Amino acid sequence: MEKSQTAVPKSAHGPARRDATPKNNNTFDTSLDLKKLLQVAEGMEQGLLVWGEDGKCMLYTQRVMDLLEMRRTDLFVGIDRSEFFKYSLMREELTPQEVEQISRQFSRHSKFQYDSNLRSGRVISTRARPFRDAGFIVTLTDVTEERQKSIERDASVQLADEARRELAVTLQKEKARQYETGILNEFADWLQTCKTLDELYEIVRTYLSHVLPGSQGELYIYSNSRDVLDGVLCWGRDNLQNYIEADSCWGLRRGRSYIYNKEEISFECAHVAAVKHLPIQKYTCIPIVAHGDTVGLMHIRYSGSGASSEMRISDPSAFATKCGELVSLAIANVRLRDELHEQSTRDPLTGLSNRRYCLDLMRQQMQDFARNGTKFSVIAFDADKFKSFNDSFGHDAGDAVLKEIADQMRKGTTPNQISCRFGGEEFLIVLPETELDEAQFVAEELRKSVQDAKVFYANQQLPTVTISCGIATFPTHGENIQDLLRNADLALYRAKEAGRNRCETADGGQDMPQVAKSA
Ligand code: GH3
Ligand code: MG
Ligand code: MG
Repeated sequence: MEKSQTAVPKSAHGPARRDATPKNNNTFDTSLDLKKLLQVAEGMEQGLLVWGEDGKCMLYTQRVMDLLEMRRTDLFVGIDRSEFFKYSLMREELTPQEVEQISRQFSRHSKFQYDSNLRSGRVISTRARPFRDAGFIVTLTDVTEERQKSIERDASVQLADEARRELAVTLQKEKARQYETGILNEFADWLQTCKTLDELYEIVRTYLSHVLPGSQGELYIYSNSRDVLDGVLCWGRDNLQNYIEADSCWGLRRGRSYIYNKEEISFECAHVAAVKHLPIQKYTCIPIVAHGDTVGLMHIRYSGSGASSEMRISDPSAFATKCGELVSLAIANVRLRDELHEQSTRDPLTGLSNRRYCLDLMRQQMQDFARNGTKFSVIAFDADKFKSFNDSFGHDAGDAVLKEIADQMRKGTTPNQISCRFGGEEFLIVLPETELDEAQFVAEELRKSVQDAKVFYANQQLPTVTISCGIATFPTHGENIQDLLRNADLALYRAKEAGRNRCETADGGQDMPQVAKSA
């Protein structure tokens, strides 16, 4: 180890004293003590440097040179402090600002600390304490590892903070997702239980006004003619438009959900512009598609920017689109149910109600009679000599006649009088709240209208087909459906027997002989 360099202050010169005792714990005043002290200092991990009152180096240990990676010529006793710092500047261990700051600290004469970042990557911490009036005792310590650990610690604390923040965001999103999924499942459940479109509309109105508070919306369904969409429900306010044109909506025109946001480049739909009362920031138009066909439009708007912040739904537009999909599915289900019901209750050739529907209806009529004593009547009729008509003109021509008979039935009855094809070329009309005389009148009018009808098939007019009718009233001609129909049939057979193309009334259940069904 190289010897440390000292410039012993004048006051410390003089003969060595064996009994050298410190004046106090820190001060020695003999050169012998000072040398011993310096030997000890050379053994220290830290470097030691003393600046005199005149700002020149009084003493330093070799360790200072090692720590600061200096050449021998860079530090010597008597070097001026400013020269010493020039070295640090040159090596870019300290910035000019730091050096300026350090020299201010020296002039304040109080203790301070700074780090030098050496080119080798090592970090040296320098601690300066005032010594005598304007001198400083300086210790230098290698803190590379300590600083590195602290950097790593800071980085891991930052990483942990970021992870915590991300976790909080993820948890929040998950909570929102669960809330939305819960609502959508519940909504879907309710929609699935709907049997009619009216029930469905009520559920949509109630649900969406609750789960999208502050929103307003409307549902439009294509009219039967498909030229416009009829307004069927609204929520949030009560001025539902009677109808809108399909072309007035960008969602319908583009065949997919359309999100309008005033702050972005988007174009307002004409149906929205037509009823604008409040400034509209954002809205969504969702085409309602059932079994691949666009059947309607759900429109949801959010008035003012505050509305969405009140909502617990994170993205109201996306949520509204999901609701629209559920509504589409539910409408498709209700329509399918209606179609199946229609198929199961309607005769495909004539479009009239079928036998099953007719029997159900008569059961209901019987219950009505039990409740409030209202009678009902039936007209049973059968095409005359239809077998030979088919034989002469073909089955398809016969079908055209059956359709014509059905048309005459529709024309000759009111909406609450139900016309049914009972089977083959046999028909039945159920007339609720109808006494016998009124039923006789309806039957006679129908008989005449069928007789007068002109039926064309394959560009030629077919010969006239007539009908024979039997009329019966509940409960006069039978106290159950079986008896009532049997007596109507017996009256019908009497009409056949009496020459056909006529109406007969049941006579109270008296059995009649079987009619010969010859052409
Ligand atoms: P009547 O005056 O005694 O009733 O003589 P009819 O020949 O009409 O005798 P009936 O009522 O027993 O004959 C039923 C005929 O109706 C037999 C069948 O060819 C015909 N028919 C039944 N269903 C259909 C149908 O869906 N289309 C056609 N074209 N004919 C049918
Ligand atoms: Mg018949
Ligand atoms: Mg017949």
